[in-house]
Amino acid sequence: MADPRTSYDALLAELREIALLSSVGSLLRWDEQTQMPPKGGGHRAEQVSLIARLFHERLTSPRMGEFLDGAGELLATLPPDADEAVNVREVRREYERQRKLPAALVEELSKTSVLGQQAWAEARAKSDFSMFRPWLEKTVELKRQEAACIGAKSGDPYDALLDEYEPGESASNIERVFEELRPALVELIRAIGKSPRKAPIEILSRHYPASAQEKLAREAVTRIGFDFTGGRLDASVHPFCQTIGPGDTRMTTRYDEQNFGDAFFSVLHEAGHGMYFQGLPSEHFGTPRGDYVSSGIHESQSRLWENLVGRSRAFWRWCLPRARTEFGQALSGVSDDDWHFAINDVRPSLIRTDADETTYNLHVMLRFELERALLSGSVSPADLPAAWNDRMRDYLGLTPPDDAQGCLQDIHWSSGAFGYFPTYTLGNLYAAQFFDAARRDLGDLDSQFAAGEFNPLLGWLRRNIHAHGKRYSGPQLVEQASGEPLSARPLLGHLRRSAAELYGV
Ligand code: ZN
Repeated sequence: MADPRTSYDALLAELREIALLSSVGSLLRWDEQTQMPPKGGGHRAEQVSLIARLFHERLTSPRMGEFLDGAGELLATLPPDADEAVNVREVRREYERQRKLPAALVEELSKTSVLGQQAWAEARAKSDFSMFRPWLEKTVELKRQEAACIGAKSGDPYDALLDEYEPGESASNIERVFEELRPALVELIRAIGKSPRKAPIEILSRHYPASAQEKLAREAVTRIGFDFTGGRLDASVHPFCQTIGPGDTRMTTRYDEQNFGDAFFSVLHEAGHGMYFQGLPSEHFGTPRGDYVSSGIHESQSRLWENLVGRSRAFWRWCLPRARTEFGQALSGVSDDDWHFAINDVRPSLIRTDADETTYNLHVMLRFELERALLSGSVSPADLPAAWNDRMRDYLGLTPPDDAQGCLQDIHWSSGAFGYFPTYTLGNLYAAQFFDAARRDLGDLDSQFAAGEFNPLLGWLRRNIHAHGKRYSGPQLVEQASGEPLSARPLLGHLRRSAAELYGV
């Protein structure tokens, strides 16, 4: 057998090439969303699927297994958080996950995901659940097979699927935290609904010219620390952020001149993702040591800047004078208090992606409960619309008028992404917990924000989260940075303080 150090070096070289291949795919997808002419779609699909196939083949090749076996000996002599140990451990985890899935199942899943998404898009357009139901049945069955092949130490099939997005987390732990969060949020939202105070949201739908929106958003995200010499902001139908590689992180947004918040807060959100990409150690590019931890940790970075910073009074003490310069007329007669209340409006709504910071989490919990129930069989796909509507009534007091505004609204289940939804609320929970910890370490963040100083906070995130890559799992990182395991308390505290201030409840 080769010297473990030689095997490790060969592993790194292989990983870097695989990462380069993957980054070519990322660039193709970014181009598809922002630049590609409509007729280019067919050719682009062939390019993207070739890259995806080459990527998968290289990642699961027997060569990879040999490098991992050879480098495995290093683990015995190194602490678990050493770079080499992190890389070997994490690559092996992914390698074994992939190798456990029979090629026929992978192919069936990917075919079903493409056809299922097409059926879902049509079903949603016609608001006809029966068109999507057979595809949901097939997808649930395939995801059960996938979970059985992968297996989970806990014995809970959901954990096998969750592991793809949130390694180290478990459904039972998420359930523990959600069970604490849900009744408290339902109660808080009811109290807010009964409050005579209403947010003056009409000021957000005055005329906000797109060019001025873009100018303000660029100024704000430059100030919080997004590096435009290593990044871009473009327009696309759905906002997203993607890294192409070190020094090249691209985000997008869309502008609605009758809606201030849509673009501004999405740019803050995507910049939060972008600054995480920009803060990953570039010398470890292509290896787990230089990669992000999980979907939930990624989302914590975007939510922290979007909500905990971007909707705070202190942030707007710095930003509102600039907004007044850009928008002039639209903001005349709007007080600082009106503005703060309008951008922190809480009200139940049917669509998850339009939901405010408080009600959003109930949308996510409903989906988490239902996807677990679908996998276990306690809710059948045929019963999904009714089960969805029951929960919407219980949690948010609303009844969807049709399935397009109910269980057909999200793309996730049609594409097979079972286990993804909880990462959204995990992101909110992690964000609040990190923010409390940063506040303890850094002192008066508010006066820093009011003066337009965001470097201390970004520096804290760099040191405690970004610099580690995948060295620690999400649960470990939270405990290390905040001194305690994942808890509902910081997020609840934040939402309750805001509700008390704005709604007097
Ligand atoms: Zn996000």
